[in-house]
Amino acid sequence: MLARAEQLLKKYYGYASFREGQGKIINSILQGRDTVGIMPTGGGKSICYQIPALILPGTTLVISPLISLMKDQVDALNSLGIPAAYINSSLSLGEVRERISEAGRGNYKLLYVAPERLESEQFRSLLNSLQVPLLAVDEAHCISQWGHDFRPSYRSIAQLLQGLGQRPLLAAFTATATGDVTRDIINQLSLKDPDVHVTGFDRANLFFEVIRGEDKRDYLLNFLRQNKDQPGIIYAATRKEVDSLNDWLGKKKFSAGKYHAGLSDAERVESQEGFLYDDIRIMVATNAFGMGIDKSNVRFVIHYNMPKNMESYYQEAGRAGRDGEPSRCILLFSPQDILIQKFLIEQSTQSPERKRSEYKKLQVMADYCHTPRCLRKFILAYFGEVIEECNNCGTCLDQSELTDITLEAQKIFSCMLRMREQFGITMVSEVLKGSNNKKVLQFGFNRLPTYGIMQEYTVKAIGDLMKVLAAEGYIRLTEGQYPVAKLQPKAAAVLKQEAKVWQKVRKPALQAAGDNTLFELLRGLRKEISQQEKVPPYVVFPDSTLRQMCERLPGDEQDLMAVSGVGEEKLRRYGSRFLQVIRTYIEERSPMAPHIGKDDDSPVGTAVPAGGAVSAGRLGRTDRHPGVPSHVLTLQMFREGKSLREIARERKLTAVTVEDHIIRCGQEGHEIDWDAIIPTRYEPLVISKVQELGGERLRPLKEALPEEIDYFTIKAVLCKLQTQVKA
Ligand code: ADP
Repeated sequence: MLARAEQLLKKYYGYASFREGQGKIINSILQGRDTVGIMPTGGGKSICYQIPALILPGTTLVISPLISLMKDQVDALNSLGIPAAYINSSLSLGEVRERISEAGRGNYKLLYVAPERLESEQFRSLLNSLQVPLLAVDEAHCISQWGHDFRPSYRSIAQLLQGLGQRPLLAAFTATATGDVTRDIINQLSLKDPDVHVTGFDRANLFFEVIRGEDKRDYLLNFLRQNKDQPGIIYAATRKEVDSLNDWLGKKKFSAGKYHAGLSDAERVESQEGFLYDDIRIMVATNAFGMGIDKSNVRFVIHYNMPKNMESYYQEAGRAGRDGEPSRCILLFSPQDILIQKFLIEQSTQSPERKRSEYKKLQVMADYCHTPRCLRKFILAYFGEVIEECNNCGTCLDQSELTDITLEAQKIFSCMLRMREQFGITMVSEVLKGSNNKKVLQFGFNRLPTYGIMQEYTVKAIGDLMKVLAAEGYIRLTEGQYPVAKLQPKAAAVLKQEAKVWQKVRKPALQAAGDNTLFELLRGLRKEISQQEKVPPYVVFPDSTLRQMCERLPGDEQDLMAVSGVGEEKLRRYGSRFLQVIRTYIEERSPMAPHIGKDDDSPVGTAVPAGGAVSAGRLGRTDRHPGVPSHVLTLQMFREGKSLREIARERKLTAVTVEDHIIRCGQEGHEIDWDAIIPTRYEPLVISKVQELGGERLRPLKEALPEEIDYFTIKAVLCKLQTQVKA
């Protein structure tokens, strides 16, 4: 039976094999068992009932909570050549009858309906004329009061079952179900001895990171500039924040839309459609946006404020990367976020018991923002799963340098004390800067001994530093419109010289300079087809399929069929157009020449971040290592005979940072003993691959070389070659 299912998977969807869990769920349905499938977002739940629907006789009924979701799913099925339709309040009674009778004639394999529809007696009797082998309940947690999206109309499913002549098989699916919710789903649907399949909650393609104590807008600006053309969502806690962020992004010339409950229906539909169709790149939204958004190519989800609990966070962040491609989930934390959430809990009309539970959940969220451990491990532990360190989160891939900011912290704390802890960040910063601002003079703060003791910094840099100290728990900001900065007990030890304060200064993640030309061309064609066929671009092909086309450069239909996501129908509809674009691209591309020595976009140049300069810049000064730049210091120590590992340990730097220092020195023309760095047995191998593939991009080189040759060795060889070319 499963072999047949696999054939259909290839034929219609163009996928070679089932993902973890899918096979088991499908098998259980095909063996006539009621089934519960709990799988993370993007895990591939739809296929679990769509493939059985193709195999079973008659029409499978799918209960789906949202009109937009239904439309998307039906569009996607039709584009695969699978006959499907939906029935919801957007149709007239005449249209409903017509669709039912079409279904009666066996013209649909799947029929999607909203749960509200089941409340209509008329509809239920119409359904009786259908052969329904399987009833699939999507987003099944909506049936439970314990779930986070209780929908009373889901309860009519049981009524429907009683009315149907023959009881269909039942299959319920959800991404988020605790034990209580799962039990509730089973009870409410009266499932008979169901097979319950839980696939892990992990979403391996998502990179998690928490950014603390940085200016959020500066961070966003940088991020969005570095990730041009990538679609993403920015979640903010309040409508006001969404409005103001959206205005600001507009001024910065980003194509952004907004979504919150205060907008009219028409405005919301317009922005949502714009985002789905890739016309708007960035969606700024409150948590009202998202449920039912099937867009698979969301490349990042940034939380501008910390959400209220881990369930909400994981669900919202999980909207990134449904297509399985690498995507980022970043949380920008500031201590004020906790105050906002506390305020929202206080304002709510919930029972004291419920409030206590909300506070507890909030505390977990705040802990997540401060944990020094692997972030994925933290999240999954919350959902009851144990994993090893993930190697794909901000903690595991931490490349930040630690900077000693004890002196700065002492100056700030002491100034706050002298101002009797009665003022906010800006005023304290003005005094430390030594500003002549009217208010400063009016209070006589220009006579304080701390006046002007940080004049080498900008007011903003001092304020940013205070935010870092707040995020690390040295300073507390009071609630209210004008938060006052108060010292926390932790600050006392610093003032007494008993403890030091370190600031982590993040370095931009290492990014190989990829060539995106073909991807962009394919994306353009996808957009064109999407407009012609009036379906969102990701329904034509997901990003993952376009990426594989770029990697494999299929030359004919057979090659194209081997690309994941290309099934028979898609091949028939779009195959020749995509092949044509790929062919033209190959023909027009000039032969690959090694670009060693070209320094503005060479991988070594882009891959090496500006080490100490980043931290110095952020602190608003440039004399962090008076005289000797950080990377040169590393080289000096290396020349003194220390190993890179010893240097890293001694300087409290990560191995990657020290390696980057060496490469940077090499680039700047410092003499380096490469033979002490590049293992002799690897060098000829790397050189031969550089000759074959060019030195433009690191990734293809890494992939073409044996596993044990790391990026550092490759970069070192490139750098050595570069020096020889120059010499
Ligand atoms: P969910 O409903 O669980 O969030 P979807 O059913 O929307 O997930 O599937 C997410 C994405 O994964 C879709 O783009 C889908 O086509 C793709 N997908 C599903 N199953 C497979 C598979 N076996 N191989 C490759 N891609 C798959």
